[in-house]
Amino acid sequence: MSHPAKASEFLEDSAKSKWHDETLWFVRDKRDTISKSIPEWEQLRELASQIKDNVLANLDQYLIEFEKNAKANNIHLHWAKDAYEHNNIVLSILQQHQCKAIVKSKSILTEECHLNPFLEENGVEVVDTDLGERIVQFLNQPPSHIVLPAIHLKKRDISEIFHEKLQTEKGNEDPTYLTHAARVHLREKFLGAKVAITGVNFGVAETGEFVVCTNEGNADMGVHLADVHIACMGIEKIIPRRKDLGVFLRLLARSATGQPITNYNSHFRSPSPDKEIHIVLLDNGRTEQLGREKFKNSLKCIRCGACMNTCPIYRRSGGYSYGSVVPGPIGSILSPGLDLKKHSSLPFASTLCGSCSDVCPVKINIHEQLYEWRQEITKDQGTNAKSISMKIANGIFAVPFAYKVSGAMMRGALKILPDSITYSGLNTWGKQRDLPETPKATFKEWYKKNRS
Ligand code: SF4
Repeated sequence: MSHPAKASEFLEDSAKSKWHDETLWFVRDKRDTISKSIPEWEQLRELASQIKDNVLANLDQYLIEFEKNAKANNIHLHWAKDAYEHNNIVLSILQQHQCKAIVKSKSILTEECHLNPFLEENGVEVVDTDLGERIVQFLNQPPSHIVLPAIHLKKRDISEIFHEKLQTEKGNEDPTYLTHAARVHLREKFLGAKVAITGVNFGVAETGEFVVCTNEGNADMGVHLADVHIACMGIEKIIPRRKDLGVFLRLLARSATGQPITNYNSHFRSPSPDKEIHIVLLDNGRTEQLGREKFKNSLKCIRCGACMNTCPIYRRSGGYSYGSVVPGPIGSILSPGLDLKKHSSLPFASTLCGSCSDVCPVKINIHEQLYEWRQEITKDQGTNAKSISMKIANGIFAVPFAYKVSGAMMRGALKILPDSITYSGLNTWGKQRDLPETPKATFKEWYKKNRS
């Protein structure tokens, strides 16, 4: 289904879509307040953008440096061309350790590779330990937001899920009570897992270490109790030096949730005695995106989710309407790069208001890239109703007399035509909106009368 069709489904529950819109706006508002409390905010964004430009221009060298230093730290490093290779590498590590149950902290990359269903098909129990991710996992759903995976669910929904899965009291919606129940449930899973999987927020080329950011400490709990840590990392997550973290960590938490800092920023450099760390470095279309001059900037993304929280389309249509692992404005740039046919409606899921670009902590020109994708997509579509009407409009706008006459005709027609014609199936714009009342005078007439 295309984005508009799925968005229509979401909008059927108007109370829910209103609540979703307001909840995300609240997060956006927090981001605004906290970013304004830092006088150097814009310099930080500029610096982050330049560091990422440098990374993308020299990605091959930074990756080689990272590999060399990680190996020197006794980390096993694996390269995966695509999701298939990535998943098989992870599985082979689990098989070497005869591991049948793993705990996993939040990782969009493993969602991208559909790692959970792959491991489950191969007899491995996967437990997502981020609370929001565990909730959607109980429902067999993917996350609907990259930072707030269960943002589409209300307390009442979660209470019902926990009653069914964790036998909590029926109807008890108290967040503290529900969180305690989840904690008891997850602790048992942590204690039983030999292998823990995490994502990676930043890989430092200079030292070969990597940093994982969580608010719940679940990545640390999993990793410290397990014998083996598998870190799944996209190749674009490299930063050159450790001191660059000072820029990105300040931007990330503030942009994501309006917090001054993420609760746990854990550095992993080398394994403890008798333990193992593996990093699986994944390409999966990233080098191809790097080769697309107009879209390569999208690889600067640090997955803060701010562009989603601010986007009027995302807020009103929900994460699932995008049908892709990374939804919202940045997902609408990345997903067509992976499968243009499947995701061709996504670049149109935007008002092009530019709010996404304004909040992006690494200054990605998101709305401009969405516009570029639209041009790429429509270029190959040939003649259709929209292109014909645009050609007609172009002809009318180019000739003042034609513009004047057609304007007068349309204003007159709109007054007398019945709704069955004005709002017929051809007027898709009018499906959700009323046409404005026609003005009594044109701007030119008004100007002539009032300019003195
Ligand atoms: S594109 Fe920018 S705002 Fe959107 S998730 Fe990525 S870093 Fe955040």
